[in-house]
Amino acid sequence: MHFNFNKHLLLFTCLLVSNFSFSQSIDSQQLLKHLEFLSSDALAGRKPLSEGSMEARKYILNELTGLENVQALYPDFIQQFSFSARNQTKYEDAANLVAFIPGSSSKKVIVVTAHYDHVGIGKPDAAGDSIYNGADDNASGTAALLMLADYFSKNRPEHSMMFVALDAEELGLRGAKALVADFPYPLEQILLNINMDMISRSEKNELYASGTHFYPYLKPILEKAATGSAAILRFGHDVPGTGREDWTNQSDQGAFFEKKVPHLYFGVEDHEDYHRPSDEFKNIHPTFYTNAANLILKCVLALDAELTD
Ligand SMILES: [Zn+2]
Repeated sequence: MHFNFNKHLLLFTCLLVSNFSFSQSIDSQQLLKHLEFLSSDALAGRKPLSEGSMEARKYILNELTGLENVQALYPDFIQQFSFSARNQTKYEDAANLVAFIPGSSSKKVIVVTAHYDHVGIGKPDAAGDSIYNGADDNASGTAALLMLADYFSKNRPEHSMMFVALDAEELGLRGAKALVADFPYPLEQILLNINMDMISRSEKNELYASGTHFYPYLKPILEKAATGSAAILRFGHDVPGTGREDWTNQSDQGAFFEKKVPHLYFGVEDHEDYHRPSDEFKNIHPTFYTNAANLILKCVLALDAELTD
């Protein structure tokens, strides 16, 4: 009898908790709309400085600058940078798109990043498709970034938050390296970099949080935040010496890691369409993607609330 009573109480509590967390969620339709546009053939794979990249920039800037409570840290929200690729091609005026939301009580900054570039047009596949749409890689992270910026523009965070759509990741984390090289504050003021790259599909319903090997104090906060999530949060892919299995330097968080800034990377394991023309909108998993974006939102909320300076 006593046991049953507890069970009912537990059920009741769960219902309350799930109702409460329902309000802390991302609009799935809007999220998918962003991803669909950014990965459309019209944007031709968003290679840095291409016409498609310019279209992506315009779209992202329009979304970010239209939010309330958003400030510019660079002229017109754009951090321009130049670099030479490994094949000596010069890229002038590549662009990170940066929106800042001041926090309510802390001086430290959470830097949320996702690269919006992909590899453009390349070798056609068997079906004759030569547009590398980069739907999962990384229209998915970029669309989630827009939704998180939207959320925190309406729900003021404790820590300041910087939302950065990074350019030229595919050419060697160039945007992230430019950001940490010309950061508007001392790097010590960064509480955490949270990077998203490939978060929209998983046969196993698993989203990874990589980085807790180096920053174990983050793990209990994330475990608690993930309780009851529809997508499963896994840890790992961050152990040095494990080759391709170690993701630490495989996306933009690597530029922060190099500067000893704590990071967390959210992503899925590689799939059959990785860096192929078939990484397109029709092949992502909309339910998983929405659940993953909501899980990341919960994690960011928990980190913002529980980490102190
Ligand atoms: Zn990527």
